Amino acid sequence: GDQEVSFGIEESLKELAQLADTAGLMVVGSSFQKLVTPNGRTYIGSGKVTEIKNAIHSLDVETVIFDDELSAGQLRNLEKAFGGEIRVCDRTALILDIFNQRAATHEAALQVALAQMEYQLPRLTKMWTHLERQAGGQVKGMGEKQIEVDKRILRTQIGVLKKELESVRKHRRQYRNRRVSVPIPVVSLVGYTNAGKSTLLNRLTGANVLAEDRLFATLDPTTRRVQMNNGKEFLLTDTVGFIQKLPTTLVAAFRATLEEISESSLLVHVVDISHPLAQQQIDAVNKVLSELDVAAIPQLMVWNKVDKASDSQKIKIEANNREDVVCVSALTGDGLQDFCDAVQARLKDSMVWVEALVP
Ligand code: GDP
Repeated sequence: GDQEVSFGIEESLKELAQLADTAGLMVVGSSFQKLVTPNGRTYIGSGKVTEIKNAIHSLDVETVIFDDELSAGQLRNLEKAFGGEIRVCDRTALILDIFNQRAATHEAALQVALAQMEYQLPRLTKMWTHLERQAGGQVKGMGEKQIEVDKRILRTQIGVLKKELESVRKHRRQYRNRRVSVPIPVVSLVGYTNAGKSTLLNRLTGANVLAEDRLFATLDPTTRRVQMNNGKEFLLTDTVGFIQKLPTTLVAAFRATLEEISESSLLVHVVDISHPLAQQQIDAVNKVLSELDVAAIPQLMVWNKVDKASDSQKIKIEANNREDVVCVSALTGDGLQDFCDAVQARLKDSMVWVEALVP
């Protein structure tokens, strides 16, 4: 499926930088190295380790993120090489951080916690081998025993989590038709990371509207209120973006973070139409959507970044000929009124229902 798409190193690093940005980190630089086989101890070669170490000091870096999964030993050796206060992590840990920040339902939180524990399990060596070294080898073997104990505890916790997840899922299946009646329609943005979802969200709404309103003060930072020019409102919510290089161990957690969209009145599929792989990205998103419980929810596709597309005229004409597509530039504001009109048209039925519901 999605992995068939050719995906170069630079593209992958660009996505990694986007993910770091999403996680709230500021990216100050990136670098890569081509090796026939990765270094067993430090993943990258020793020259590269020194180069990065120097960059860490000149750029005042706090975190170094690797694009591929690192072993427990590699993580430890790199942290030692860079100096104790530098945090070293890999793509998987970064994505787990983001999922953790964005898990909006109980089920999603459980699924992410499970993935985090499964990630930790083979990496549990760190603390104890360290203690063993401190003790000067006198307690040799103690650390190893302790790791076994810790692993057993973690495995037990994983088992408990899996049972809990199973029961939460069963419960959801039983009650899936009893939708929560929200007093205002929810529109969810889905799409690839970097498609422009949060730019669109910010473009359409003022962040300050949120703080003053007590009813919505509990909204998470990825949800905003949008007021249309007929005075009606909807909630616009951003979801965790799709990722080209999603480690297979994280697929379940990713899906769980998307599950909340089954409560929305409308799905807006945001596409970076200037991206050379736009069609493949659309297909990959649709594939996942078709596997979620969202078939009954109306969809609208937004072709974003028309300002950047080389054949923007052709794209606009094509979008005009299609019922289900609007062309916008979240950056320049081009097409935003068309977007609001299209959302309004699709929400019409649910707005009537909403008005009937609220006294
Ligand atoms: P998200 O990951 O889907 O939330 O994407 P972002 O909203 O963070 O946007 C990713 C990048 O694309 C940012 O650098 C934006 O400034 C840029 N971007 C978003 N919308 C547009 C657009 O309409 N035109 C152009 N040229 N860039 C855009």
